Amino acid sequence: MGSDSGSFLLAIGGGCLCGAVRFEIAAEGPLTVRQCWCRTCQYVGAGSGTVNAMFPKEGVSISGLLVDYVSVADSGSVMHRRFCAQCGTPVFTEAEPRPHIIGVRVGDLDDPELVKPGMTIWTRSAPAWACFDPALPQAEGQAPPPKT
Ligand SMILES: [Zn+2]
Ligand SMILES: [Zn+2]
Repeated sequence: MGSDSGSFLLAIGGGCLCGAVRFEIAAEGPLTVRQCWCRTCQYVGAGSGTVNAMFPKEGVSISGLLVDYVSVADSGSVMHRRFCAQCGTPVFTEAEPRPHIIGVRVGDLDDPELVKPGMTIWTRSAPAWACFDPALPQAEGQAPPPKT
């Protein structure tokens, strides 16, 4: 790939394990990609952290039935975590204060090689056996949201 203009849209496809939920993202690329080891992500990630690619929500189209688990983060933000109603795969995460951004669980991408983490967050919540990429910046807790 590559473009002299530097601005063209990718079409990134993905979905859940059973295939009932599908999504397509039209974007130049993710705003940011973070591996998160907060305690909540350890539940969602079945022991590991989660890897989340943040995209502008306007470019994301979704089909299939999702269930929404709503909770309040330590920051006070109301969070929506959406899962496939059929197979339970975590698909999206959203924070109400940032309605224009959607977080996509990177394991759901048809090609997980398309993106890679640029930062590790919530390292202080991680178990002692967790492995962090030493090449990436780390934050002990939350890091500021991506600029848009
Ligand atoms: Zn599913
Ligand atoms: Zn987290």
